[in-house]
Amino acid sequence: MAQALDMIIRNGTVVSGGMESTLDVGIAAGVISQLGGSMEAGREIDATGRYVLPGGIDAHVHLTAPGTEPGSWQWVDDFEVGTRAAAAGGITCVGNMSFPRKGEQIMAGLERDMADAGANAIVDYFQHPVLLDPGDDGIEQIEAAAAAGHPSIKIFLSFRRFDRNVDGYLQAMSAAADAGVVVLVHCEDPAIMHCCGLELAEAGRDEARHFPESRPVEAERIATERAVGYCATTGATTYVVHLSSAAALDACRAGRARGLPIFVETRPIYLHLNAGRFEEPDGAKYAGAPPLRSDADRDALWAGINDGSVATVCTDHAPWTLEQKLDPTLTASTLRHGMAELETMLPVLWSEGVATGRISVARFVDVTSTQAAKLFGLYPRKGTIAPGSDADLLIWDPGEVRVVDGAAMHSNAGYSPYDGWEITGWPAVTISRGEVVSEGADVTGRPGRGRPAERSRFRRP
Ligand SMILES: [Zn+2]
Repeated sequence: MAQALDMIIRNGTVVSGGMESTLDVGIAAGVISQLGGSMEAGREIDATGRYVLPGGIDAHVHLTAPGTEPGSWQWVDDFEVGTRAAAAGGITCVGNMSFPRKGEQIMAGLERDMADAGANAIVDYFQHPVLLDPGDDGIEQIEAAAAAGHPSIKIFLSFRRFDRNVDGYLQAMSAAADAGVVVLVHCEDPAIMHCCGLELAEAGRDEARHFPESRPVEAERIATERAVGYCATTGATTYVVHLSSAAALDACRAGRARGLPIFVETRPIYLHLNAGRFEEPDGAKYAGAPPLRSDADRDALWAGINDGSVATVCTDHAPWTLEQKLDPTLTASTLRHGMAELETMLPVLWSEGVATGRISVARFVDVTSTQAAKLFGLYPRKGTIAPGSDADLLIWDPGEVRVVDGAAMHSNAGYSPYDGWEITGWPAVTISRGEVVSEGADVTGRPGRGRPAERSRFRRP
């Protein structure tokens, strides 16, 4: 007698953990309970001709603002809007950057952002606290946050405050290493960027189209090499966010070859777009930090996905409206960085990567789900299709073609950097813990149904 199930996904090609096989997937109480064999349930979904993949895990989003003070950056999506875009785009778990506000401790910021997510998120979530002040209190909070289920910390080598207190940040990285906490690092050198900004301004060349010169590859390479050195010094597991250049990737690859726990994240825009975009009249809409790079850099990142030196592709979803991005008062040094990606990341990566034969379906699954689950302590509850794992699943239609229209998508940005692109491969159904939360682009999941993703501390394999 077959076990009682709530749902069966029939005849799909299941890809997970190196397996690719046509199997039925049985779900009970929000968990995958059976793979293959005889089964019955009240609800069945036919996945013939489609893939069944682990839900996307996007470990880098901005769905809470870094502050309330005037002038602080207020991106335009919150947990409800952002996770609606995520569900439509096949992402079933998001990792948010949690900024403490002025004078606030990490734990207070985390509590506020967890309550916000708990009330509003449609899919599951976790938080990375941002370490702004590595004083004694800040360092103690790293262990406190890990004990409360948040074993990661974000630091910005790109802030001028970093160079004023390298000692403190290194002590923080040592504390993170002791606590099994992953350190996320933004690698761009603030002094180089400041110098380049001054030179552009003096030369009267500080319009938006000179944005790449304001944050050159050299700034990224030097900061990345420092991060590799700090990783070697402290032993902290180091995760380089939104890496954009071949030079920075080579620095990480060399560290990995020495056995250091360095992991690389890249971001969709660095795979799909190049710096030539800034020559377009509305080029400012492509501004992210670091800037778009050359085609040689793009090729290096695709190669990195294939050879495993790029661990994850994450959105860095940090949207603004087109009006905000194209504000004519902004200069190369003051452009608003970031854009909406939660709804487009998986389809565009599939279309440009899998459909073109550049990467395999297995690599797609690894960089969009499994590796993030392993690094951030979610595995094997998430990031895989196996009995006992959460039923966070995508039924993926590799043949569906849609033209991207950001204005019709869920983000409040109202535009997409891929507007007008014909994209092949979209999620047909997104399932979160056994519940269908999106079909086509129609999101049915209720705000507040998302749960905190349970995490364990990082252990080196
Ligand atoms: Zn970010």
